[in-house]
Amino acid sequence: MALLQITDVARIYTIGSETIEALKSVSLRINKGEFVALMGPSGSGKSTLMNILGCLDTPSRGSYLLNGTQVSEMTEDELAEIRNKEIGFVFQTFNLLPKSTALENVALPLIYAGISKTARTARAAQALESVGLGQRMEHRPNELSGGQRQRVAVARALINKPSIILADEPTGNLDTRTSIEIMGLLEEIHQQGNTIILVTHEEDIAQHAHRIVRMRDGLIESDNPNLEIKSVS
Ligand code: ADP
Ligand code: ADP
Repeated sequence: MALLQITDVARIYTIGSETIEALKSVSLRINKGEFVALMGPSGSGKSTLMNILGCLDTPSRGSYLLNGTQVSEMTEDELAEIRNKEIGFVFQTFNLLPKSTALENVALPLIYAGISKTARTARAAQALESVGLGQRMEHRPNELSGGQRQRVAVARALINKPSIILADEPTGNLDTRTSIEIMGLLEEIHQQGNTIILVTHEEDIAQHAHRIVRMRDGLIESDNPNLEIKSVS
């Protein structure tokens, strides 16, 4: 069974009397353990699709099965719950709480999961160790480099052991060397059995994924295994 299956998904936005078909008819199956890059020009529907896959939005038409659960008809509350349980988000802009330490940022999703403070701290510390930030736990985001901030965000995304990691331009604010480091970290996470979907504009970055899906005008234009996987390790 596919981990994630969307079938004939459309997403239509209405602004006043104007309608925009951001997704026309998109079908996609992703199995557990895949590392997929989603590419396409600006406006092709990548963010709209990622928002649906991340349970931030629901389709106007079509179905979305996540781990066997039909997500497309869920209420806001149900979506929030499935999001916390199943999805780990990594963003271009890191989205860390500026006044909280690295440890507090990583522990945050565990508060919503109802985990005790002692257990939260222990798990967050371990997650920071695993991304190489054991020595930076008490630092706030402005005391960390861009690459370190993204490592904190990756640790936070992983802390609830989600089914899928959704990374939206995770290297978009990083220099080349740091981008390669972060891709190395995502590769490690993939090798540990995690499923990753990555949006990127950069071919070099997409080449780290094992499958490349290209979108255009609200449709999937191509979907191919990547036969020349570039590894940084
Ligand atoms: P991409 O991420 O590939 O740049 P988007 O999914 O952001 O593409 O956008 C696809 C289309 O949908 C674009 O025409 C965009 O202007 C439109 N769009 C995206 N989000 C909204 C929104 N919230 N309201 C109205 N139109 C939107
Ligand atoms: P973009 O790719 O357009 O630069 P982001 O990557 O920051 O935007 O965010 C992608 C989508 O995720 C947006 O629709 C945004 O509203 C939503 N989002 C951003 N931050 C969070 C968050 N911390 N939790 C849930 N949703 C978020």
